[in-house]
Order: sequence, then C-alpha cells, then structure tokens
Amino acid sequence: MSGIEQLIASGVRGLQPYQPGKPAETLERELGIKEIIKLASNENPRGASPLVADAVGKVLSGVARYPDGSGHSLKQALSERLDVSPEQITLGNGSNDVLDLIARAFVDPGQEVVVSEHAFAVYLLAAKSVNARLVTVPAREFGHDLDSMAKAVTDRTRVVFMANPNNPTGTHLGFEAVERFLLAMPPSVITVLDEAYFEYVNEADYPDGTVLLSRFPKLVITRTFSKAYGLAGLRVGYAIASEAITEVLNRVRHPFNVNSLALAAAEAALADDDFVSDSVLENRKGLEQLGSGFARLGLGWIPSVANFICVHVGPHAAGIYQSMLQQGVIVRPVANYGLPEHLRITVGLDHENARALEAMEIALTESGRS
Ligand SMILES: *Cc1c(COP(=O)(O)O)cnc(C)c1O
Repeated sequence: MSGIEQLIASGVRGLQPYQPGKPAETLERELGIKEIIKLASNENPRGASPLVADAVGKVLSGVARYPDGSGHSLKQALSERLDVSPEQITLGNGSNDVLDLIARAFVDPGQEVVVSEHAFAVYLLAAKSVNARLVTVPAREFGHDLDSMAKAVTDRTRVVFMANPNNPTGTHLGFEAVERFLLAMPPSVITVLDEAYFEYVNEADYPDGTVLLSRFPKLVITRTFSKAYGLAGLRVGYAIASEAITEVLNRVRHPFNVNSLALAAAEAALADDDFVSDSVLENRKGLEQLGSGFARLGLGWIPSVANFICVHVGPHAAGIYQSMLQQGVIVRPVANYGLPEHLRITVGLDHENARALEAMEIALTESGRS
C-alpha cells in the first residue's frame, strides 16, 4: 500500500472519477475498424460553425501570451445576447468548471446539497469534493420532483442543482414548477438551474432562466458552448447570476481558466445563429427518427426535449451496449444514473441514427437468443 489513502481529504475519499463516454479513437484502436459512430456524449454531430475555425486561426499566432483572464470580449457579446450585464457572467472551462466553483464558493463541509435522482453526475462530484452531504430526492416519472426537492431543503442546505432539461433523462421542468420552487426557497439557498441544452428545447412551457434572475437573486443559471454550439473539445461554459454572486464566483475561479482559442471560438460560435437553428432542426428530425425506430423495435423510451434520448432495452442493457460497441456504435450505459435498463443515445446525423438502430436491432436479437 502506498500510504496515500489516509492522506486523502475526506470528501474525496469515496469519489469515483467521472465516467466519460468512450472516445471513438479508443474503440477504433481496440476493434481495428474505422467508421466508428459515437453517440455517447451529447456533442453536436454537425461539428461547429465554420466561423469558429476562422476565428481560432486568427488568434493562433498569439498563443505565447496569456488569454484575457476577464474574458472581456466574450462576456460583452454574451451580455448583449442575454440582456444581462457583463458583471453577471462568470466564464468557465466548460460549465462543469462553473458548477464546481459554485460548490467551492458556497458550500462548507457538512452542509447539504440537494439534487434529484437521475441527476447529472457532476453535481455529486462538485458536492462531495467540498465534503458536503448530498441529499438525493426520488424522481417522478424520471423527471425532477420539484415539490419534493423543495421539502428536502433544510437550514443546512446551501445549494440545489437542477438540470433543465435533465441529463440523462431528457425530461424538462415547466415555468410554473420552477417559479413555485424558487418562491419556496429560503434566502440561504442558492438554486442552480443548469441549462446546458437550452438551445434545443422547443416546449411552450419551458422557462428561460435568465428572465427569472431579477426576481430571484439567489438563482444561478449555467449554460455551455459544448452542446448546440459544437465546442465540447474547447471547454467553454458560463454562469449568469446576480452581480453579488458573480463577484464571489470570481474569487475562486482560476485565473485564465478559459484559454484564448476557446474565447475566440465561443464568440464566433455565438454569432452564428443559423448554425445553431439548423442544428436544432436536424436534432428534432433525429429525435423522431430514433423514436420511430425504437417503436419499430418494440422498445419504450423516455420522451426527450434535448439532443439525446434514453431508450428502455431491458435487463440486458449492459450486453446490448457491448454488442453495439462491437459493431462500432458507442452509446452510453446509464446504470450509474440509476437507470440499469436504459441506454442513452445522443441524436446523430441521419445515417448515424440509422446505423445505431441497426446495431441495436442486431444486439437485441443476440440478447434474445442468449
Ligand atoms: C453536457 C452537460 C453540461 C456541460 O458540460 P461542459 O462542461 O460545459 O462541457 C452541463 N450540464 C449538463 C447537465 C450536461 O449534460
């Protein structure tokens, strides 16, 4: 034994590293086949706006210099787009970074962080790494049960994390439910509304969290360039909150947490509305394609408003995942999210969705025979 175990901070001792989707390159190496299809991490299958490559090219010659640590230009662009002041924006190395900042800035050891069952795994990591007590509230029909979550809040609760829509379930919260929840919160609780998939949602009752900020000063909205904007590899996300909360988040933010290529890329991506709206349309078609494919295979699924969908494949989910992998299609097992009979599939391009469905049909036939 290395003698390291006793040295680990107590919040970190029980932690498991975040399990990312398997990279296509890894599977390519393992199977020795090309044309791997990765539908495992909710990335944009169309890539990024062509404006991004131009913008990154222009700043490449300046990489010897530190980036603008304040992210002035990107924050300015976001502030105009979102109709908030730049002093309300905290940039992060992906929104994961921002979620972590929130826990570090506001949660003392032993205090409570409330999440839902089937919630995004990063909330648990953020909470545990500051030695908080994680309170997990049972889901209702796979979605967040906000009334029960409100009841789970005590005077030891500091932060409530909720994703809207939620990953991995794809379920969403309506305006009234969110508003009712916020009205029920004591002033000692920071509510984090994670809107990583905001751009994809088209439901009439879906709230834009930023419009609630003026009424609820303890609300924090997080968004990202990793999903609809197609910049997952560059790592840019941000929080929108009151100026007071933002000032605190900036105290714990690492200087230069967003690199110069990422800053330029995000600003260019933000300007390309057509790219995003085309991506959203393509996603909608893909969701329908997958839904009708699942129906044809006799499978149920959790209705999704995002760019991924959880399909119910039954007790052989792990084997079906493996069989799809062997066929070169990477999807995401979600047993670690309390969904042992589902697989999460990111919506891909038309031909990718078709191949995923083919691979799934073969996998289901195999598992039926065994
Ligand atoms: C993908 C995702 C994020 C974004 O993570 P980044 O660090 O911005 O890449 C945040 N929250 C949820 C729920 C997600 O699924």
